[in-house]
Amino acid sequence: MNTLAGSDLFIEVVYIIAVALFVLSLKWLSSPTTARRGVFAGEIGMALAVIGTLFHRGIVDYKWIAIALVLGTIIGVPLGRVAMTAVPQRTALSHAFGALCVTLVGTAEFYLQAPTVARFTMGVLSLEVILGGLTFTGSLMAAGKLQEILPQRPITYKGQNFVNFAILGAAIVIAVLLVQDPSRMSLYPWMVFIALIFGVMLIIPIGGADMPTVISLLNSYAGLSAAAMGFVLDSKLLIVAGALDGASGFILSVNMSKAMNRSFTNVLFGGFGQIQTAAAAQEARPVRSATAEEAAAILSAAGKVVIVPGYGMAVAQAQHKVRELYDSLSKRGVDVSFGIHPVAGRMPGHMNVLLAEADIPYDKLLEMDQVNGDMPQTDVALVIGANDVTNPAARNDQSSPIFGMPIIDVDSAHTVMVIKRSMAPGFAGIDNPLYYLDNNLMLFGDAKAFVGNIVKELSGNSGGH
Ligand code: NAP
Repeated sequence: MNTLAGSDLFIEVVYIIAVALFVLSLKWLSSPTTARRGVFAGEIGMALAVIGTLFHRGIVDYKWIAIALVLGTIIGVPLGRVAMTAVPQRTALSHAFGALCVTLVGTAEFYLQAPTVARFTMGVLSLEVILGGLTFTGSLMAAGKLQEILPQRPITYKGQNFVNFAILGAAIVIAVLLVQDPSRMSLYPWMVFIALIFGVMLIIPIGGADMPTVISLLNSYAGLSAAAMGFVLDSKLLIVAGALDGASGFILSVNMSKAMNRSFTNVLFGGFGQIQTAAAAQEARPVRSATAEEAAAILSAAGKVVIVPGYGMAVAQAQHKVRELYDSLSKRGVDVSFGIHPVAGRMPGHMNVLLAEADIPYDKLLEMDQVNGDMPQTDVALVIGANDVTNPAARNDQSSPIFGMPIIDVDSAHTVMVIKRSMAPGFAGIDNPLYYLDNNLMLFGDAKAFVGNIVKELSGNSGGH
């Protein structure tokens, strides 16, 4: 009896340490200087949570657990090695696995306890499997859209919101019937099935450009379903970890929506990104372009340069070349800083992570508001693979789908130079009037190669200005 109580105490202590590490992890993840420590704390916390659970006295046989751990490792290791640009869809897959797990555990628990399930338990169990089910299929759909296995364009039809709410309503009605009388066991599979369908229907009207926000919201749902599972299984660890996950995912989605000046409902029901094909087919207008040699001359003659990176820098993996450019210009006495848009790239903090990887000093990374104030005094704004986040239509074209989204005002700099491979639109699928302005020069080419060529030109001509 004593040893059992001892093992219980051990588990509780391990769980408390794990929870503390999860809280610290979130705290540390909120700043680039402590983010690595945050990831490490989260990893240790999760390892402790797994170890503590392995000491659970309800476990009678470790064979299946060992098989699951091996399988999980086989799937998890390659998932951890995907390219940085594929992290959003990878994250969506992780949510799908987590949500599937929650749904399966809830289902097992239902069939273990039915037909006599306490009302409270049945209530939270229903919440768990509805959220788990919709998050499972919703996350798979989101991953498919981002990986372009599924069409990115939003699919909308008349009365869609009504149909979706009716589907969700049906699942909730079944949940209520089951809470009233859990012996209606034949209803249970329908509740799960409807939740799975709802997950698909929820994502169909949402365009690819909104997927990162939706994934963060699905992250929140996965967390809430895990917290509900914590109530069903009487696990404080799950309740706390799920609540942290639920709250942080929700806050992140709200912040991302704010950074795009969109309401939450607009992200979920707005059908954003529908115009993609129409905009891509716009007729060609003349633009001015320049070579690496000309760009190097303009940059080395400048006093103040702001570099605005975007998704293209990430795809091209140009961050190390950008660091060389920063070094080369700084050596010549040019004041170089970086303008970081909160939704540049494909996930929050995308640019910060890449530039930190290339050891660009943090104090050179300026936030949008800060950099916009300095823009009229900036000699050159060098845009590297960014598009939507510099689109002036967001500021002055009411008919633009991104109207109202805060942007980096590169067009107010004396000269703008944009490195990208073509005139193709960015993720929102719309033309960028910046490219046709008199103070704009297009530098056509792959970001890594073009920046590399500018650096070569600068070093072949290293005299200062
Ligand atoms: P963007 O608008 O998607 O534009 C990226 C540009 O990079 C493209 O126009 C592309 O033009 C260029 N590019 C691609 N590969 C390149 C390469 N190898 N070398 C050089 N250029 C390359 O990117 P963004 O300005 O960073 O904006 C991010 C978008 O994602 C916004 O619409 C934002 O709302 C959305 N979004 C982001 C988040 C987030 O958390 N970060 C969340 C939700 C939504 P070419 O094909 O001509 O090269």
